[in-house]
Amino acid sequence: MSLNHIVTLLALAAAMVPLAAAAEPCPGNSQALGTERVLEVDARSTPQVGRKHFPNTLPLARKELVLTFDDGPWPGTTPKVLDALKRECVRATFFLLGRNAKAHPELARRALAEGHSIGHHTFAHPLLDRMPLDRAEAEINHGIEADEYAVYGQRRGNPITPFFRFPGFASNKALLDRMNQRGLVVFGADVWASDWNPMSPEQELRLILARVEQVGRGIVLFHDTKAQTARMLPAFLRELKRRGYRIVHVVPAGSRGVLN
Ligand SMILES: [Zn+2]
Repeated sequence: MSLNHIVTLLALAAAMVPLAAAAEPCPGNSQALGTERVLEVDARSTPQVGRKHFPNTLPLARKELVLTFDDGPWPGTTPKVLDALKRECVRATFFLLGRNAKAHPELARRALAEGHSIGHHTFAHPLLDRMPLDRAEAEINHGIEADEYAVYGQRRGNPITPFFRFPGFASNKALLDRMNQRGLVVFGADVWASDWNPMSPEQELRLILARVEQVGRGIVLFHDTKAQTARMLPAFLRELKRRGYRIVHVVPAGSRGVLN
């Protein structure tokens, strides 16, 4: 390893120093899991994250987790998910579907108001890897514009939070290159609850806890449209606390102090 290489690594390590101090007290819940720290993420240093599909993930320490929720907002389930996160003072990232944000803008705005990051997940959830690039990009933009309008009241193509997750993780090199050129961070996942399969909340809780213990750190994927996920979330968060896991909130680079 050259000296230059070492200097670069040291600079990178310094950039990864936790940005937030220890969790603030959580109103009404002295035993809350809380949010341990805020991590700024940008497409230059971490263009694609999540080891299920990519070689790298976010720079997380052992027992650090980033919680993410896809496909919402959805009446009935998203409010329960938001309630559970609020009770534990945990901040997560929601990858919205444009059509759901358009139909339920008040829920999308509630997620923002409660301090969560708002990422994007297309308008109607098609698999983008098997359509022409321009059509795929039009679908991505349609979703981003619908989300931005629902959440911020402005229809912009460059989202406030440039985080994107491909429906079904269906991407290809041309699309990934395009996302990177646009400065959009592509989120995969390190672990998931398979909550697209029907199961009881108890089964889902056991499954996700076992998988989290296996990977030890990383990006956790749930769907806030799923009743079983909404129902098991309070117990999941309490169990993470009991087992010594810590929550990291991802935000766009340079946004601390601007967003919540
Ligand atoms: Zn999805």
